[in-house]
Amino acid sequence: MKFKYLAFLMLFVALSCGNDGFDSTELDQYVDRFEAEANERGQTYINEIANIEIHLVEIITPGILGQCVRGLSDPNQIHIDRAYWLEADDLQKEFVVFHELGHCILNKDHENTAGANGNCISIMYDGNSNECLLSYNLDTKEAMLDELFQ
Ligand SMILES: [Zn+2]
Repeated sequence: MKFKYLAFLMLFVALSCGNDGFDSTELDQYVDRFEAEANERGQTYINEIANIEIHLVEIITPGILGQCVRGLSDPNQIHIDRAYWLEADDLQKEFVVFHELGHCILNKDHENTAGANGNCISIMYDGNSNECLLSYNLDTKEAMLDELFQ
């Protein structure tokens, strides 16, 4: 099941997001970083970003860290699992936000291709496949961001 872990959902109903008050600024930092990485590669998504809402929510389905929730008329929403977020380090947060922005803004599907070393070449790894091993760190991220924005 391709979408099991980091799910990409097409939902046409508004979901309750609860009060994420203090969370927003921290989440926005990672969205700003996405735009900065795009800028470094000669791209901009400032208009698309303006039409996205990002919230910390309780995602009940086990193993789902984030979701891109598409709306027909409402802005697209990114939901990040609050419990995961509270335990995640900086790069793990960056990974999940960039992955969901990959769905919501770049319209990317999952990509589980492995490079020569077996590591996933893409940030759009579905989080569940055995086809590649996720290694998103300071040594690998530049190449993975190049792949994301190519
Ligand atoms: Zn995904």
